[in-house]
Amino acid sequence: MQFFGEFGGVNPSIEDSSTFTFLAARSMEDTFEGLGEGCYLYSRHWNPTNHYLASALAKMEGTEAAVVSASGMGAISTCIMQMTVTGDHIVSNRMIYGGTYALMKNFLPRYGISTSFVDITDLAAVEAAITPATKVLYTETMSNPLLQISDIPALAALAKKYNLKLVVDNTFTPLLFNPMSLGADVVIHSLTKFINGTSDTVAGVVCGSQEFCTSLMDVNSGAGMLLGPVMDSIRASSVLKNMHSLPVRMMKHSYNATYIANKLKEAGIRVMYPGLEEHPQHELMMRDAKMDYGFGGMLVVDLEVKETAYSWMEALQHANVGYLAVSLGFYKTLFSSPGRSTSSEIPVEERDAMGMTEGLIRMSIGLDMDIEETWQRMYDCLEKVGALKVHA
Ligand code: PLP
Repeated sequence: MQFFGEFGGVNPSIEDSSTFTFLAARSMEDTFEGLGEGCYLYSRHWNPTNHYLASALAKMEGTEAAVVSASGMGAISTCIMQMTVTGDHIVSNRMIYGGTYALMKNFLPRYGISTSFVDITDLAAVEAAITPATKVLYTETMSNPLLQISDIPALAALAKKYNLKLVVDNTFTPLLFNPMSLGADVVIHSLTKFINGTSDTVAGVVCGSQEFCTSLMDVNSGAGMLLGPVMDSIRASSVLKNMHSLPVRMMKHSYNATYIANKLKEAGIRVMYPGLEEHPQHELMMRDAKMDYGFGGMLVVDLEVKETAYSWMEALQHANVGYLAVSLGFYKTLFSSPGRSTSSEIPVEERDAMGMTEGLIRMSIGLDMDIEETWQRMYDCLEKVGALKVHA
C-alpha cells in the first residue's frame, strides 16, 4: 500500500489538525457511534497521518491493524489495561524492560491485576504459573537486557491451550522476527528504538487484530482513547519516513554487532550475542528469525567489575566510539550499565537470579562504515582500563 500527498507528493501529507469538520451534523453523530467509515473526529482518537504510520507498521508485522502511541510504555500500558480487569492475572517473562516490569509489579496491583514473573525459557515454569485468572502471557522476542530469545511458537501453544492472549514486545528485533507468524496475538514496539532510528522521539505501537485495535480506541471504553497517549501527527510523519531505511539499517547493525561480538570473544571478553554459537538460544533464533537481517544490533559485554565497566564506557565515549546513553537503535553506538539504569526497577535479588551482574554493559552497535577501525578503538580502551588483564 502506498499513500501519496495531497498534490501527488511521494510522501503523504501531514494532517496537522486536532479536530475535523463535518458537512452534516448527522455524520458527526455516526462517527461518535463508530459508524462513520473513513471520517475523522478528533486527533486523540485518530488522525490520518497516524493512520498512515499504523498501516505501515501493521503491514510490517502482518497484523490486520495497529494503533500508534506517544511512547512504547503508552502502547504497553494501554494494551495490558485493555486486556485485563480487576482480579485478572498475567504471566510475564521476568527478564523484560524495567519500565514494563515496574508497571506490572508496582502499578497494576493498585487495580487488582497481579503478575507472576517467570523464566520464559523454562516452559514448565511458565505453564505452572498459569491460573484460572490468567489472561495474558507477556514476553519480549529478544529480552532486555540479556538478549534471551523467547520460543514464541511454544508460548503460543500454551496461550492457546489456556485461552490466554500472547503479547510480544518486538522492540529489539523489528524485521528479524515476525511474532505474529509464530503465533503471537499482539505485537508491541517501542518505536523510539530501531524503527525510528534517529533518537529524536519517543513513540510506540500496538499491532493486532482489527477487533482488538478497534476496542483499544473505542470512544467509550478504549484505554488508548481514554488514557490519551496519542502520538502527534508531525512525529508520525517523521517516524514513517525513517521506517523506509529500516531494512538496510537492521542489516548493517547486525553486521557490525556480529563483527564486534566475535572480536570481543577473541580478546577473551565474555560477550552475549545471539549470533554466537554458545548463546543458549542461538539455534532457536536460527529456526525462527529471518536470517536475511542477521542476529540484531544488540550485544552485552561482561567486564565483571563495576568500576572497570564504568571506566571502559567513559573511555569509549572519550574515544568517540559512541555515547554513554540509554536507548538503542541509533546510528552511533550507545552503551549503558543495565543494572543501574534501564533495569534498575527490577529488585537486586531478581537481577542476580537472572545473571544481571554489575559489570555488564549493554551495547547497541551503530552503523559505523569502518567497523574494523571502531574495534581497534574499543580494544585500545579495553587495554587502557585494564579490562584485558582480568581475562589474561
Ligand atoms: N520495550 C522495550 C524492550 C524497551 O527497551 C523500552 C524502552 O527502553 C520500552 C519498551 C519502552 O519504550 P518507550 O521508552 O518508548 O516508552
